[in-house]
Parts: sequence; C-alpha cells; structure tokens
Amino acid sequence: MRVHVLSLGCARTLVDSEGLAGILERAGHSITEEPAQADCVVVNTCAFIREAEEESVRTILDIAQLKKEGRLRRLYVAGCLPQKRRGESEDLLKLLPEVDGFLGPGDLSKLPDLMGSDPRGSDPSRFFVTSPVPTLLFDSLTPRHRLTPRHFAYLKISEGCDHACAFCSIPQFRGAHRSRTIEDLVQDARQRAGEGVVELNLVGQDTSYYGADLYGRPRLPELLERLAGVKGIGWIRLLYAHPAHVTDDLIRAIREIAPVVKYIDIPLQHVNDQLLAAMRRETDGTQIRRLVERLRTEIPAVAIRTTFIVGFPGETDAQVDELARWMEEARFERVGIFPYSPEPKTPAERMPGQVPEKVRRERLDRLMRLQQGIAEEINQTWLGREVEVLVDEPDHDPGLYLGRTYADAPEVDGQVFLRSDQPLAPGRFVRAKIIDTTEYDLVAEAL
Ligand code: SF4
Repeated sequence: MRVHVLSLGCARTLVDSEGLAGILERAGHSITEEPAQADCVVVNTCAFIREAEEESVRTILDIAQLKKEGRLRRLYVAGCLPQKRRGESEDLLKLLPEVDGFLGPGDLSKLPDLMGSDPRGSDPSRFFVTSPVPTLLFDSLTPRHRLTPRHFAYLKISEGCDHACAFCSIPQFRGAHRSRTIEDLVQDARQRAGEGVVELNLVGQDTSYYGADLYGRPRLPELLERLAGVKGIGWIRLLYAHPAHVTDDLIRAIREIAPVVKYIDIPLQHVNDQLLAAMRRETDGTQIRRLVERLRTEIPAVAIRTTFIVGFPGETDAQVDELARWMEEARFERVGIFPYSPEPKTPAERMPGQVPEKVRRERLDRLMRLQQGIAEEINQTWLGREVEVLVDEPDHDPGLYLGRTYADAPEVDGQVFLRSDQPLAPGRFVRAKIIDTTEYDLVAEAL
C-alpha cells in the first residue's frame, strides 16, 4: 500500500513516526507525503495534555472522512492516544469506527501484521494493540524513513521517564527511562551524516539523565564528546534537559565541545518553592535561579529555552507575580507557556485548589505578552552582529532564504530571513550580518 504517516505533537513522536515509516517500507509498503495519494494513513498521535488529545481526535475524524468518501482503504491510529486511553479501548473503537486498528508507542513494529489482517472484524480487541508497559526502543538497526528535511535530524537518545511530576501522565504511557548505548547513537549519527545531516537535535523525555540506567550514572557529557567526533555534523543541540540533572560536567561540555551549540532547552515549569514542591519537580526556586545564573555565566552567549505551567492547583496571583518578576530578570531567549491540564490518574488531578480554566488562560496570556516584549528586546541586541546561519530553505522571494542561528531549534524557535546574491543550498552554513529584527525573527545579509 501507499502509506502516509501523519505525525502530531513533538519531535519525540516524529522520531517514532520515522521508525514506523521505515518499518512499513521494509515490509514492502511505500511512503507518500501526500495524504490524497495514499491508500492508507497512519496518524501517530500526541496526548500530552487534553488539548493535544482533542487535536488528535479532530485530525483522525478529518482523515476518517476521506475513508467514508472511499478515497482511502485503511486508517490506523498509533502512539500516545491509544496508550493513554487503553482502559477505554471499547469507547475509542466505538467513537472512531472508521479506524482499522490502534497501536501504542511500544507496539509500533506490529503495524505491518495488523495491516496484513482483515479490516476490523468480530473481535475488536485484536485491533487495539497496546502493551501494559511500553518497552520498545528503536535503535540504529531500526529502518528509518526520515520526515525532516535532509540537513537536520532528531536523535532520540532515550525513551520514557523515571520522574513522577504530579501533573504529568507521560511516564504512565511511555514507560520507564531507558537509554540507547553510546556506540549505537554514534552509529546512528554516522548514518545521518552519511545522508547529508549537518544538525543533530538530541531528544528524549529526560535527556540530562541519559545513560543512568545503562551505566549507573548520567553520561550525557561523554555522549556529546563522542557525537562531536562524527564527521560532517556541524551543530549538536540539546533539547528536553531536566534541571535536576544539569551538572557541572554537562555545562562544561556545552561550553567546550565545539559542535555543541550554546543552547539548552530546559523545562523549568515554575520558580515558586511551594509550587515546585507540589509539582514534584525535584528542584526548588533557589536551585533553579542558581542554575540559570550558572548557565549564563559559564556558557557565554548561551540561548535558553524553557517552559512554564500556569494555573497549577493552588497557584495564587502572588505566585504568578513571582514568576513574572523572575522572567523579567532571567530574560529567557525562548519560552513556551502551558495552561495546567488536569490529566487522568495524576496526583495533581485530585489536588485541592484547582484553578478555573478562565484564570489559567488569563495567566497564560499575561505571561505570553510579557515574554513577547522580552524576546523582542533580546532580538534587538542581535542587530549588527555577525553570525553563522544554517540555511533551511529558499523563500518564495528570489534571493531570500530561511535559516536559523544557533539560538533557534528547528520548528519551535525563530527564523532568520537571509538575503543573498548567491544561491544557497539547504544545509549550508553561511556567515551573515543581522540588519533588522522583528518580535521573534531576524533579518540578515549573507557576507
Ligand atoms: S520529567 Fe516530569 S514532566 Fe517530564 S516527562 Fe517526566 S514526569 Fe513528565
């Protein structure tokens, strides 16, 4: 069959989608980027919070319409949504009768078998395949059909999470933390470099804990060192680092290992002591403030991306004020803010002091507006600087290209609008001068 894999949610799910597409190709199917040309669509879902689940269901219903109209033979749903709702499989099967099968994130390699069986028959449980505890971990031997542009890739260094944050259901449906070996990741990086990848973005639920399960202690600095030796890789970027495991060695590795960009994505979630304790974040406000100071002083020009949650149960206006004041002090280059979402079977769901949705939204809007101003001011400080830009793609205007500096992760951060008299191929690093700035983006001239 011609299969279209539609990946929702974050880069971690995208890596799963790439493995899934590779497994389907190996089983004799072909992958198409166009849903209209597909015989079969697989929706790899996100169910991180309620809004993500709703988006997943909306997408499935849209694709189901194609099937009803006879333009599609098969529709499968994979990933976090079926895993999170495995206790309600009958409801999901009833709600989405057009779906031919559901698979959890630990069961993706079973899809070719499911596609080989008849469409849904008398025994619906056969078409809802979710392991009680996912243990699957793709490695460098897993075939991979990449869904990112040729020049950058995500490298999933670990799966699952051993933390127990009170608001989060991810460990329930992604399983315990498990790392790939350093050798396997270096092998993977070599394969990617051979395909033309110049930027590797390291992902996992908890990247700074990398290696603790395999080697008895976190070994991210060593992994960075080894990946830096892979020929052809110009940038290595660290995403999803838990603040509790950011050590002096890791800070040193980011500062000193040349292809590791001076960038860190480190979800902090809040700065107030009581809330951090209630969230079970294994850090307090003082540690978080110190960590950000250390990153700023020890890694010159570091760009920090973080996320915060507003409206966690019990959060007061004064605690939001505290967070806002600190955001003004810490001046993060990139911030994502999420309204708290009460997730099933999490401790926070049953906590007293649930904040009304309207208030959560207001707090979100307030902090987003604040961050918008900060980001704009930070961008203005780039004016006149000479920087290295990675070219992503040509824009519609001739002579204009889209690219990124080290401070921009693909798909989530800002962009550089780059003017050049010379044609520039995607994946090329170019020296450029910043000549203008906008709220989140930069305008530059190739030198
Ligand atoms: S660190 Fe906390 S928020 Fe992140 S995946 Fe693990 S439990 Fe969830």
